[in-house]
Amino acid sequence: MEFPEFRLGSVLATSFTATLTERCGEPVERIPTPGRLADWLAVSGLTVDSCSQAQLDLAKDLREAIHAAATAAALGQPLPERAVRTVNERSARGHAAAVLTPEGARRWQLGSAAVEDALSVIAADAIDILSGERDGRLALCASPTCRAAFFDTSQSRTRKWCEMNTCGNRQKKARYHARRLQGVGE
Ligand SMILES: [Zn+2]
Repeated sequence: MEFPEFRLGSVLATSFTATLTERCGEPVERIPTPGRLADWLAVSGLTVDSCSQAQLDLAKDLREAIHAAATAAALGQPLPERAVRTVNERSARGHAAAVLTPEGARRWQLGSAAVEDALSVIAADAIDILSGERDGRLALCASPTCRAAFFDTSQSRTRKWCEMNTCGNRQKKARYHARRLQGVGE
């Protein structure tokens, strides 16, 4: 069976919310099965031993809580209480340790290689960006069918799209075609 490929960014929490894309258009679920969540965790440096349907449900709960909180933060609105509760619960329920490699990189060592441990790392990352502990700005993608929350770390903090390769290019193409229709030259 073929699954939609992952959209991996440099920020763990928003890469995780990007496992559901085109939220305001025709949504694409990129972790439709427990096995696919395990795949996503593995490529994100959070390898787990196994994943059940119940754990996939927990993961999606957390994902939607992060999405709701990040969207509110990007819009300057109060964070939804339920979302905050879910993020905090997941952060507290797992065990993981940050490990320094001899090359000076950070890795995660999960307590018992359980999905709950991996989710605690993702929840803590979400807390980092929601609390302003990390340098950057939460913003919403300018694509009307996407509206994904992303973490803008550009110098000018003026990034418009969650991802240049997908939403950015699509918008550019749409503008190009609109100009051509109006007879405005390139
Ligand atoms: Zn987007």
